[in-house]
Amino acid sequence: MAKKLSYKELLSNLKGLTVRNVVPADLGWVVEAEGSSRALCPDCGVTSHSRHSRYWRKLRDLPMQGASVTLKVQMGRWRCRSRQCLRQIFTERVDGVLLPHSQQTNRLSEVHWLVGRALGGRSGQRLLKRLGMPSSRHTLLRQVIKAASGSVWQPAIRVVGVYDWAWRKGQSFGTILVDLERSEVVDLLPTRSAKVLGEWLAQRPEVKVVSRDRQGVYAEGVRAGAPKARQVADRFHLTLNLRQAVERELALRRSFLRFTPQSTPVVPSGGGRETENKGRQISIQSSVQQQHAEVARLRRQQKLELFQTIQRMKSAGMTVSQIARHLGINRRRIDRWVRLDTLPERNRMEPRPGMVERQSAKRLVCSVSDRKMRR
Ligand SMILES: [Zn+2]
Repeated sequence: MAKKLSYKELLSNLKGLTVRNVVPADLGWVVEAEGSSRALCPDCGVTSHSRHSRYWRKLRDLPMQGASVTLKVQMGRWRCRSRQCLRQIFTERVDGVLLPHSQQTNRLSEVHWLVGRALGGRSGQRLLKRLGMPSSRHTLLRQVIKAASGSVWQPAIRVVGVYDWAWRKGQSFGTILVDLERSEVVDLLPTRSAKVLGEWLAQRPEVKVVSRDRQGVYAEGVRAGAPKARQVADRFHLTLNLRQAVERELALRRSFLRFTPQSTPVVPSGGGRETENKGRQISIQSSVQQQHAEVARLRRQQKLELFQTIQRMKSAGMTVSQIARHLGINRRRIDRWVRLDTLPERNRMEPRPGMVERQSAKRLVCSVSDRKMRR
């Protein structure tokens, strides 16, 4: 037997409201609902269980099967019992569903705003009438202007990206907040602090996912302001994590890496077997030297990149311990490097007794084995 849908399941987006009845009306449907059995004081945030009185609100909502819907909600007036609070009576808020004094639900406002922005007044009015969410062209334009000025209604932000931006490069930073579903910047905060971010998020309970960089400051802010929101790393930082992990691993196993020459060395042309052998030996020696030079150049480049990363992190205000933890390298090296402006040149050792001989012997073994292989 097919399962019967309850009103609650059918209208599950109306969080904070309990749907009691759905009745047909002359021009669509009327959904009757009621508010909560307790409410938060908007001034002090203390929960009140002391109801003062009830009142009805009528709002327009999204249509059902092309017919318009009116939401009739019984809300409460509540007493604030906190002694520290100046407010005595307040009306119930249903965050994320409806705004105080609004004549339509937030989700209907969002659709009106989208249509108004895409089509403008007249065309938007015609389309919305056909879709069962009528609105006048003036109202549509007013909503677009209000949303743009940020004074009244803003669409609900569910997925927000939190990143830092520089007032002055490497000196002082603010925070930029981006609605990732709409790819729009929604706010700029003057500082990069957990407290300010937490306060911003606390005013937006609709935020479900926060994409952030690897700053612990933002993690703390999200935990404080939106503890139920899911924290994720964005694609850029995931790639960065992967790249740095691979770099670290390769740096640890550097001794196992061997440079592969790009082209086969050219044997100088000349007559006779002796000249040919001599030419081959010279070319083997020069290719070995090239390999050494290339490996040294690559190591130097890696070192320079690491040095620059450490300098940038230092400029961003990170401590030596934080940098060491972040990069997974010994803090003694970082301690030395943060005091320097440029990366020092490699300190070449004087050859120790016997070193030259050992190297020559190695080269000779290489050349002999190579000659055997070619025969
Ligand atoms: Zn209060």
